[in-house]
Amino acid sequence: MQTKLFIDGKWVEPAKGGTLDVIDPATEEVFHKIAAATADDVDLAVKAARRAFDEGPWPRMSGAERARYLRAIADKVIEKKDYLARLEVRDNGKPLPEAAWDMDDVAGCFQFYANLAEEQDNHPEENIPLGDPRFTSKVVKEPLGVVGAITPWNYPLLMSTWKVAPALAAGCTMVLKPSELASLTTLELGVIAEEVGLPPGVLNIVTGLGQEAGSPLSEHPLVDKLAFTGSVATGRKVMIAGAQDIKNVSLELGGKSPFVVFADSDVEEAVEWIMFGIFWNQGQVCSATSRVLIEESAYETILARLVEETRKIRIGNGLEEGTLLGPIVSRSQYDKVLAAIERARSEGAKVATGGTRPQGLDKGYFVEPTVLTDMPEDAWVWKEEIFGPVVCVKPFKTEDEAIRMANDSKYGLAAAVMSKDLARAERVARAFRAGIVWINCSQPTFTDAPWGGYKQSGIGRELGRWGFENYLEVKQVTSFASDQPWGWYIK
Ligand code: NAD
Repeated sequence: MQTKLFIDGKWVEPAKGGTLDVIDPATEEVFHKIAAATADDVDLAVKAARRAFDEGPWPRMSGAERARYLRAIADKVIEKKDYLARLEVRDNGKPLPEAAWDMDDVAGCFQFYANLAEEQDNHPEENIPLGDPRFTSKVVKEPLGVVGAITPWNYPLLMSTWKVAPALAAGCTMVLKPSELASLTTLELGVIAEEVGLPPGVLNIVTGLGQEAGSPLSEHPLVDKLAFTGSVATGRKVMIAGAQDIKNVSLELGGKSPFVVFADSDVEEAVEWIMFGIFWNQGQVCSATSRVLIEESAYETILARLVEETRKIRIGNGLEEGTLLGPIVSRSQYDKVLAAIERARSEGAKVATGGTRPQGLDKGYFVEPTVLTDMPEDAWVWKEEIFGPVVCVKPFKTEDEAIRMANDSKYGLAAAVMSKDLARAERVARAFRAGIVWINCSQPTFTDAPWGGYKQSGIGRELGRWGFENYLEVKQVTSFASDQPWGWYIK
């Protein structure tokens, strides 16, 4: 396990020597320390990335050459999968099978962008037909420059990978600041970068607090692009910082995503996908379908089965076999989730199940999976992201009402609809104001498909070819190709 910062291909101590405790959320034990970077360290890292971009081989090599490094990284992730997954569980708390799935996705993401880097060699430019035959024009795409990437703790290595894989594939260099609450697997990416011989300065990793390390990164004048995933409140600060010198900014933020269930749905399938939509990763998922709308005639039946199955979820240390719900990531998040449930009660919500700390687990930041009902539509709990295993359920009468309630949110990250009537499901899917829409399921995520939000859930898209474009500049090259003079001043 790493304790230092990865800057310019070397592991270095932070300038001020500070450290942060790494706490296992299942046991509350401090089991490691990471470096707390400050502005001086960030400056060194950004300058290393700048040199690697302006003078180094990375942006100048072919896509095929870059792809070889990305595939080597993917191979290393697969080789170390068990170690990385276990480390993720200790750092973040999620059940081991979920962490193992994350590692497969990490490797898959590096492979996917390796393929796109190669494809770029075969399609280096696109001719643009112009209305004027005296000119020819083409578009070339070039790496955007130095990227400052800031990531959250809920899918620590995967969220870092969603930025690192496409940015490196495109030929950018970067400084990555993972969340102070879960940095260990991202530091292992630095170890892997070293092992595969990534040129120095291409990937720099600085751990530390948002205010002390994230903020100087987002303000640094030598950074060309900010790629941020996290809360709306921090995203706003990052966007303001980027505005000072008009950086390219992409934001993946929070959500309060709806799941509309029509009465013709199979009850068991509905309950399964509602649970997958909110209890996976302890509900600490940006796209979690945390507002469930059930058609009135099926409301009581589906709610009763949801409560019954929710009570059966096995809660425990993510490393124990059979655990389906681990602890919340940190003491402060745990306090926030319990406070949100209390606030919901005070606003009139009823707790159908859960709502407290599970009995028999004295240590660890565990919260019972919780189903809330009967909250008014303007209640805080119906409007705001909790980021925990808490689902709000309400009935609706008509399709129009369901769409209105679903879209009545400042967020627009994801939405889901379930119905056997596929024409209706498609109609509702089109009516949602959200960047990711699921029909007859909730949450499955694919590297090939675009990911990102409408409204306050963000700007830009990650994953797929959209994620690759995120890290490319578009350059127009237009040639005057006429044998006749231009003839404006000189006749
Ligand atoms: P957060 O906003 O608290 O922190 C995110 C990152 O920003 C961390 O690395 C943090 O250190 C850093 N940071 C904090 N203050 C900063 C500042 N002033 N300047 C620069 N950086 C700063 O979010 P979190 O609690 O880590 O993550 C949870 C949030 O992330 C939720 O809102 C969730 O919905 C969102 N999220 C969104 C997506 C998506 O794809 N849309 C994915 C995962 C998580």
